[in-house]
Amino acid sequence: MSPNKPSNDTPQLDIAVIGGGIIGLVVTLGLVKRGISVKIYEQSSTFRETGAGLGFLPKDFECMARINPDIVKALEAVTPPATDAEDDWLYVADGYHQGKDDGKKENLLGRMHSGLRGCRRVQFLTELGKYIPDGTIEFRKRLERVVEREGEKLELGFTDGNVALADAVIGCDGIKSRVRRIIIGEDHPACLPRYTHTICFRGLVPTQKARPFVGDLIASHPTMHLGPDAHMVTYPVAGQTFLNVVAMSHDPKDWRLEDGWEKTGTRQEVEGCFSSFGQTCRDLAALMPETLTKWALFDTFDHQIPFYNLGRVCVAGDAAHAAAPHHGAGAGLGVEDSLCLSVLMEKVLEDLADGKTGKEQALEKAFETFTAVRRERCQWMVESSHTVCDLYEWKRPDIKEDPAKAMPELVARYQIVVGFDTDAMLKATAMGY
Ligand SMILES: Cc1cc2nc3c(=O)[nH]c(=O)nc-3n(C[C@H](O)[C@H](O)[C@H](O)COP(=O)(O)OP(=O)(O)OC[C@H]3O[C@@H](n4cnc5c(N)ncnc54)[C@H](O)[C@@H]3O)c2cc1C
Repeated sequence: MSPNKPSNDTPQLDIAVIGGGIIGLVVTLGLVKRGISVKIYEQSSTFRETGAGLGFLPKDFECMARINPDIVKALEAVTPPATDAEDDWLYVADGYHQGKDDGKKENLLGRMHSGLRGCRRVQFLTELGKYIPDGTIEFRKRLERVVEREGEKLELGFTDGNVALADAVIGCDGIKSRVRRIIIGEDHPACLPRYTHTICFRGLVPTQKARPFVGDLIASHPTMHLGPDAHMVTYPVAGQTFLNVVAMSHDPKDWRLEDGWEKTGTRQEVEGCFSSFGQTCRDLAALMPETLTKWALFDTFDHQIPFYNLGRVCVAGDAAHAAAPHHGAGAGLGVEDSLCLSVLMEKVLEDLADGKTGKEQALEKAFETFTAVRRERCQWMVESSHTVCDLYEWKRPDIKEDPAKAMPELVARYQIVVGFDTDAMLKATAMGY
């Protein structure tokens, strides 16, 4: 693709996007589509993604189509085709109260929602990268500071000593965001994410091996297996040839952020976490590979960021609202952010073309509107991701292991996630700006 140069007779807007993760690329494609000049600064030497799978909901596809249809093309290229909606529900099962060795099936408690489509992260990022215009991304650029002076462009300083100029900065620099610190101040407690005391193991099990142990329904449908202090999420991947097993367990110990959050774990650790569970979860643990990936889950629940903008600088995606992954919807939330920001930047450009306002004033108003429109839903997600984990792991004192109480609350919370009203967000955006 050729660089996204605006023509000489239109007003220009130079946006710097910090971070070339999924949300940085999605925002950029939204700006490119609207003829806005954009540059991505990414600290790594290439596109990198940790973790394996990522699931998107129908509402995410809708947002992507409105941001830039190329994003849907990129995702379609790396996800299996949509299936019959009746056939791909996320089921919930009691993973604990099951005959220990008598071959009984897990008791199904209900189902949450349908339509989740999964992809491998790195593949999606690579596909998105193909639509980014040449010369738009600079790798090995780690943002250090942003200096704002009235009437001038922002000055971005990088750790290599170089500087760059931009009219506005959109920080998509993830959970450890530098831009978040610049916005709320180095001393604010929300600068750093906190350990959620949940450890997460992930391994692939061949479906052929798993099916005799878990049965047809679990082998072919996403399923959440609940129990005390731990839970498992299993879902078919690679054309149903593998079952992706994500096992989470409470960890009373501390985990320091500076030690990184990804390590190598063992099957024995997973078996230990699920040793008191029913046969299905114990079988699944025993079928996991000998060594597997293990993550410490961090989030911004304890100290939530009070606002997403300062002057002509804002944050989006995990930089603004890093949540534990228990709704499996953090990236989808960043996609919603990206639509809001794309539309706002388009409005700024229109107002500049009409001579209605000055650039600084328009950008500040746009970012204020972004916080006003997005913050309530995004912070709810940070909170709800915590709450649903407590429900999965029977930690809520008022509910404990009672499915008659847990299921209605879980279903209601998932409805808020999946039932996002894109038109209502765009209306609020237009009214707020
Ligand atoms: C186990 C797990 C499962 C999940 N499953 C799902 C799911 O199924 N569905 C879903 O929607 N979400 C899911 N999520 C959440 C999702 O992974 C995140 O919300 C999403 O990846 C965040 O993307 P991002 O672009 O905001 O941040 P990141 O992906 O973290 O990207 C940030 C980028 O910024 C760069 N960067 C950082 N600092 C600087 C700097 N100073 N200068 C320049 N560059 C910088 C980084 O190198 C990185 O490339 C899951 C999360 C986890 C942990």
